[in-house]
Amino acid sequence: MSFDPRHRREADRLLDAAQADRAARRAAFALQCRRRLPQLEALDRAIQGTVAQAVAAALQRGADPAQAVERARQENLSLQRQRLELLTGVGIDPQELENAPLCPICHDTRRHEGRPCQCVAQLCAAENLKELGRQLDLEGCDFDRFQLRWYDAGFDPRLGASPRELMASVLAVCRDYAQLFPRYPSKNLYLYGGTGLGKTLLSGCIAKAVAQGGHWTVYATAGALLGQYEAVKFNRDGDGSALEDTRRYERCDLLVLDDLGSEMTTPFVQSALYQLLNQRLLAGRATVISSNLDMDAARDRYVPQVASRLEGEFQELPFFGRDIRLLKKEERQARP
Ligand SMILES: [Zn+2]
Repeated sequence: MSFDPRHRREADRLLDAAQADRAARRAAFALQCRRRLPQLEALDRAIQGTVAQAVAAALQRGADPAQAVERARQENLSLQRQRLELLTGVGIDPQELENAPLCPICHDTRRHEGRPCQCVAQLCAAENLKELGRQLDLEGCDFDRFQLRWYDAGFDPRLGASPRELMASVLAVCRDYAQLFPRYPSKNLYLYGGTGLGKTLLSGCIAKAVAQGGHWTVYATAGALLGQYEAVKFNRDGDGSALEDTRRYERCDLLVLDDLGSEMTTPFVQSALYQLLNQRLLAGRATVISSNLDMDAARDRYVPQVASRLEGEFQELPFFGRDIRLLKKEERQARP
């Protein structure tokens, strides 16, 4: 699992702010308590004193320190009890004065068992979803919203099944892929078929579900993605954001590349696409592509290195049926 450096920076910023806010509130509350209960400060000092006494006794040479340590411990317990009574007597929960960490798992170190802690991962996932939400209608990207009723239920002898049956299995693969990510048997999917068959919707559903699972997910249309590579190559990347984007395409856990084949396929684009796909495959990173091109058309359009990666490394998911936008329009027109 890796994070977008931008999401990680934002997560750290939010955690810093939350910790500072908590410390300030606690300090203000402690001050308030001391004003209300003037005995509290002396009591806290005395408790500290017994801790120091116990440490000093334990370090003393010669005499057996056990008795002195025990005396300090008893004194400490008695003072703690007095403090508890003092606070609860006026309805203050002593825990509110404790220096408890915001995250009980990592104690605010932000790492746990050699990895970034959940508190960081959750914030990164939220940033990831926010970013996907700027490109996709995330509310609509829900597998349950994929309606099979738009696909013909009649048996098609050329397909050996009905479009609806075939699309039901496409839907099942996409759902399993997202739910099992990154352990689905195929690491890469190639969704292809005509326009208006739901490829972008299912790609979006996968992107959202995988990001919700805490995996760094980047969505881009082929035109936008390759445009960023061109901007870097031809020095049109004034603020360095295109370079940052190309790194994200290369390093994210899941890249959802929508509408492959709609871009201007220049020799530079072919080479950039090959480098990207090859790099991701070698690093074992997952990619979901959607395209209007079937494999024959992809072979015609792309250089053999690109076409062979698509054919050899991606599970093909053909989409069937009629353009849903047209079907919806017909349905609206047919209403009285
Ligand atoms: Zn944590």
